[in-house]
Amino acid sequence: MRHEIRLAVLLQAALSAAAAAQTPATDSGAFLAREVAAGAAARTDHSQRVRDLVSKMTLEEKVGQMTQLEIGMISTGQSAALKIDPAKLEKAIVTYGVGSILNVNDEAMTPAKWKEVIGAIQAAAARTRFKVPVVYGIDSIHGATYVKGATLFPQPLGMAATWNPELMMEGSRVTAAETRSAGIPWNFSPVLDVGRQPLWPRLYETFGEDTYLATVMGVATVRGYQAADASDGTRVAACLKHYIGYSVPTTGHDRTPALVPEITLREYLLPPFAAAVKAGALSVMVNSGEINGVPGHFNKWLLTDVLRGELGFDGVAVSDWEDIKKAVTVHRAAPTEKDATRLSVMAGVDMSMVPNDYSFADLLIQLVKEGAVPQSRIDEAVSRILLMKARLGLFDEPMRGAEAPLGTPEARLAALKAARESLVLLKNDGGTLPLAPGKKVLLTGPTADSQPALNNGWTWTWQGDRAAAYPTDRPTVRAALAAKLGPSLVYVPGASYDKEIDVAAAVAAAKTADVIVLSLGEMSYAETPGNIDDLDLPDAQLRLAEAMQKTGKPVVLLLVEARPRIVRTIEPGAAAIVYAPNPGLEGGQAITDVLTGDVNPSGKLPITYPRHPNALRTYDHKAFEDADQGFGLKAYKPQFEFGFGLSYTTFAYEGLTVGAPAADGAVPVSVTVSNTGARPGAEVVQLYLTDQFASVTPPVKRLRRFAKVALGTGEGKTVRFDLRREDFSFVGADGKWTFEPGAFTVAVGGLKQDLTLER
Ligand code: BGC
Repeated sequence: MRHEIRLAVLLQAALSAAAAAQTPATDSGAFLAREVAAGAAARTDHSQRVRDLVSKMTLEEKVGQMTQLEIGMISTGQSAALKIDPAKLEKAIVTYGVGSILNVNDEAMTPAKWKEVIGAIQAAAARTRFKVPVVYGIDSIHGATYVKGATLFPQPLGMAATWNPELMMEGSRVTAAETRSAGIPWNFSPVLDVGRQPLWPRLYETFGEDTYLATVMGVATVRGYQAADASDGTRVAACLKHYIGYSVPTTGHDRTPALVPEITLREYLLPPFAAAVKAGALSVMVNSGEINGVPGHFNKWLLTDVLRGELGFDGVAVSDWEDIKKAVTVHRAAPTEKDATRLSVMAGVDMSMVPNDYSFADLLIQLVKEGAVPQSRIDEAVSRILLMKARLGLFDEPMRGAEAPLGTPEARLAALKAARESLVLLKNDGGTLPLAPGKKVLLTGPTADSQPALNNGWTWTWQGDRAAAYPTDRPTVRAALAAKLGPSLVYVPGASYDKEIDVAAAVAAAKTADVIVLSLGEMSYAETPGNIDDLDLPDAQLRLAEAMQKTGKPVVLLLVEARPRIVRTIEPGAAAIVYAPNPGLEGGQAITDVLTGDVNPSGKLPITYPRHPNALRTYDHKAFEDADQGFGLKAYKPQFEFGFGLSYTTFAYEGLTVGAPAADGAVPVSVTVSNTGARPGAEVVQLYLTDQFASVTPPVKRLRRFAKVALGTGEGKTVRFDLRREDFSFVGADGKWTFEPGAFTVAVGGLKQDLTLER
């Protein structure tokens, strides 16, 4: 009870303060430099302990450490009924000396249950010769998603829509503490695959289509998870995934082939991983797909030459789920599992997420005994695994993890703030929003009353689709709007995701409504089950939209979805549009706050919102894709541009100044942004750079810096960015970062200035 009163007081205080002090101005360049440097600072040296252990371990013990099994391999039953099976546990941990266990069996468990399970695992590990603790791993991708009572943030795409790296870092700090408090020290997050294929069902796990935004948000996540010392009981090891090229399958289907030229890989896909490695990330997970015909797990060039040699990564490379087996059964790139095991380990995989049998350990022991895999490679892999365990403090205290309470009012408030900032106002004709007080509102559509749609996959269950598993005290959009509007709100379901339910009833209800809130979009999905062949919204939703628009009442289109489902035919009939990319458990409240005007929206699109399903170009496409070249062809014309988002106030830019380059090539840029409207708000100042001519055809523009600036009415602030030589560089045809002197254009908020760099 006291908990609830405190939350209510905090929420109230936050509401009144929300508009005034939405968020501090953070120059993304300064943020990135500061956090990468802090993450790269010297860490405790564990090499002696690791060397000692490795020198005493048998081959079997080492290969055991390289093996990762799923929770069902040590237990029976599921969720609350899950029980450790002593015989299975003994075989896994004591006989095989397995180094890691992962996952949840079906549904989130309480922290107490987690501690009971992991405590039993660590007790078994304590009965082995060297008592090497087991490292448990989980997907806490938007909060501690498998721990009951945890705080849940927007999905990463929603976090990217906030353009607020400080908030990303804070959310990741909460996620780490709540994950570790369940005894789990390893988080398979962040996804640093750049989300450049909008059909891909894992788009919501990414930070969107832009390399730079993903880099900044990725570093913020790693720093929030690990801070300076991941052995702290409130931190976890990050796992950068899925290295690399997983997010750009040609078909858009999960785990299907991608073709990625090396210059594209280096220019667009590698930078987030490179920065996160520099910031100290302790592990990476390998791409389950294939690029250029080579399965991710067999790609020695990427896993060893680039990751270790070029990026200097010294952590653990773990396979993805069953992927050594799949190299045979799915990719058909090796005839036997034994061949696949050799090729993966020799390519650079340190730990295999097997996860359902002991084949990896058995085969790898054989391979070493036959001389097909050198002992030195085993020593290298096991050293990295032991190093991560030492860095997590597991040797000192296997169950280390502060008894942090879950879902505290402060943590929930951070999640609510993030959810609010993640909402993007895409259209607002005639000030349709905020909803005027006293108006009668009809709410309809498949996502209006759905926590799964707000949260998407990896939420309590893998698919996130079990509404009954969600906490009952977090409102859906319907519940939050009803609490705010009382009897002025009428709700009619209208349609499910792909079937009409009661469109006629919605039409009838619209007669007495002043405004219709039409909540369309996607329900929840994760990975391959989320594959789609068509980016269009299902017909049933379009028909509901058409029926609502025909009533003549103003329609507010609320898009609760991650993938930008095509709205071309219903956009003209919508008076206002809000995009809500999986705002999470506090999403229903956040959406209500924005619709009713308690909060001024400040989110910006982290992806291009396409107009046509076959025109899926990113904002940083090539110049010649813009031109119709005299043939009347359609130039680049998305529904909404990357970086776009409106506010209930207006902003004006002036005084763009591009200073003279310093000797080291740095260029200072400043601009003044002012709030010219009637209410406080926050603006994301975005700096784009265009290389006017380059030996590799230049993109029309690239995001190079941003800063989210809170402004009171009439207030103006000058924002300063320092561009560096690397911002003016690109990956040349030879695959190397290149600077070519010449003309560039700096663009910020509609202002542009050219400059010439001589050298
Ligand atoms: C996913 C990974 C995830 C792993 C463990 C795989 O299917 O591709 O992203 O970390 O399962 O749950």
